[in-house]
Amino acid sequence: MYDVIVVGGGPAGLTAALYAARAGKDVLVLEGETTGGQINYSPLVDNYPGLPGMSGAQFAQTLTRQAEDQGVHIRAESVTFMRTQGERVELTTGKGRYTALALVLATGVSHRKLGLEGEDQLVGAGVSYCAVCDGAFYQNRPVAVVGGGDTALQEALFLSARCSKVTVIHRRDLFRGESRMVSQLRERKNVEFLLSHQVEELICGEEGLTGLRVTDLKTAQRKELAVDGLFIAVGQEPRNEVFANLVMTDDRGYFLAGEDCGTSLPGIFAAGDCRAKKVRQLTTAVGDGAVAGLAASAYVDACRARAE
Ligand SMILES: Cc1cc2nc3c(=O)[nH]c(=O)nc-3n(C[C@H](O)[C@H](O)[C@H](O)COP(=O)(O)OP(=O)(O)OC[C@H]3O[C@@H](n4cnc5c(N)ncnc54)[C@H](O)[C@@H]3O)c2cc1C
Repeated sequence: MYDVIVVGGGPAGLTAALYAARAGKDVLVLEGETTGGQINYSPLVDNYPGLPGMSGAQFAQTLTRQAEDQGVHIRAESVTFMRTQGERVELTTGKGRYTALALVLATGVSHRKLGLEGEDQLVGAGVSYCAVCDGAFYQNRPVAVVGGGDTALQEALFLSARCSKVTVIHRRDLFRGESRMVSQLRERKNVEFLLSHQVEELICGEEGLTGLRVTDLKTAQRKELAVDGLFIAVGQEPRNEVFANLVMTDDRGYFLAGEDCGTSLPGIFAAGDCRAKKVRQLTTAVGDGAVAGLAASAYVDACRARAE
């Protein structure tokens, strides 16, 4: 029995745990993969205020150690089931059952992948899911963006101001994203469109990605494209299925949470990329984490006060 359990040991979850532990609570973090979450994949985090030039992995390690130093317990376990029992919440993992008075859900998102061979191994070596994060590494170099929605168009606009050439690859004839952005892109001399095309293969050398093999879906013709970077923007998916039967989400599956990160269930808070919001970055994740950690601690105090 813990005061607070945090599901997900990414930046939001670890920050929530840190704040709750500093508020004197007994805190457990359950992390199914690697503590630090997505930021582990960023070779250089240059937009975190006050700490420029740190690698994502370094940030993840430092934050993990900081939380542990404050007494946070971390277990490498994935939560597969949740239920409430009166004022308590019970979580099941492959290894056991844990109960707490308050719960912080910080399960993050996973970027939808193309499912190509080598895609996972090339993250950080040519494949990226975040132009704002990684675009600077491709200054004056040729890149491609895959996708047809607003995110893909935004990424292409952002990259076209930095890269020598941006090829936008979309499997349909028309973009789903805003026509205003399509027009802006059409005006840029270093942007080329490959509509009705699909990436079939990632070509890599010793240093990482060197090109793509693409197919014209109308003619079935194949060709190679020399690029140093591929930005995949075919959507993100929340990882909230396990909890979505109890905690209210929006129609895309993101937890609905208020200013204090409180969800539809008392004592359950949502922090970071897993909640419905506009900006998903490190700064917003740790901001949510601080708010959720303190709100969860206040909830525990209120439960205890009622019980006395
Ligand atoms: C390649 C890349 C580069 C980036 N670079 C930057 C950058 O430079 N600057 C910036 O501001 N942002 C960057 N970002 C975005 C930033 O990493 C995210 O906004 C941030 O990590 C969100 O934190 P989070 O804790 O909400 O979620 P996540 O980091 O996604 O962490 C969630 C954690 O929850 C765990 N989890 C999920 N479900 C369960 C479960 N059922 N049981 C147990 N554990 C579970 C996951 O394993 C994961 O570790 C980058 C993202 C990527 C992918």
